[in-house]
Amino acid sequence: MKAVTWHGKRDVRVDTVPDPTIEQPTDAIVRITSSGICGSDLHLYEVLTPFMSEGDVLGHEPMGIVEEVGSEVSSVSPGDRVVMPFQISCGHCFMCDQELYTQCETTQVREQGMGAALFGYTKLYGAVPGGQAEFLRVPLADGTTIKVPEGPPDERFVFLSDVLPTAWQAVEYAAVPDGGSVTILGLGPIGEMASRIALHRGHRVIGVDLVPDRLSGARERGAEVLDLIWRSTSSGAAARSR
Ligand SMILES: [Zn+2]
Ligand SMILES: [Zn+2]
Repeated sequence: MKAVTWHGKRDVRVDTVPDPTIEQPTDAIVRITSSGICGSDLHLYEVLTPFMSEGDVLGHEPMGIVEEVGSEVSSVSPGDRVVMPFQISCGHCFMCDQELYTQCETTQVREQGMGAALFGYTKLYGAVPGGQAEFLRVPLADGTTIKVPEGPPDERFVFLSDVLPTAWQAVEYAAVPDGGSVTILGLGPIGEMASRIALHRGHRVIGVDLVPDRLSGARERGAEVLDLIWRSTSSGAAARSR
């Protein structure tokens, strides 16, 4: 299959690599139909280089169609449409029972002092091959797949993998009181999703950025916006004129 592989700092390529196979009875093989590129992938491109190995397959925001399942997988079958989250989790340990799946005790990478294993994200998180590839082996498939319906396009579901839950958690942890407001610094993918979620939850949203398209998009969706460039240049000019 074709896969996005890491070869060194700022050196990422599309290579032909062996197709994944079922290794454990709890595995599934998924044919990937869409796969996100994340800001977190930029860390692998540069600062996390010491924790990468040549040939590592990147990607942690995939979705696709189940091709094959191991004998102990019961929640999905071949043909099912699924999204995979960043983390690999069993779904039935103490942490999973608290819905703290990124700390799954079954996949925790304890020798590195980390939480649950992650797809495509360095030896710190288990060196698990990722989903920017034609096929993905999904370990612990019963806990690591989200079944989604047929019909709507992939773009309706692929954000369930990382962008939506990450942004949702940010808004949740902000604990905005009823009638309160929330300021979102940076309207990139996560910030934009956080602003949509905060608006959806009825909060007053103030979005801050310096990219015109991001600001106009947030304004159209109902956020108030603050243009950092305008603020810095106009306040700078005002300060200089004094
Ligand atoms: Zn991501
Ligand atoms: Zn678990």
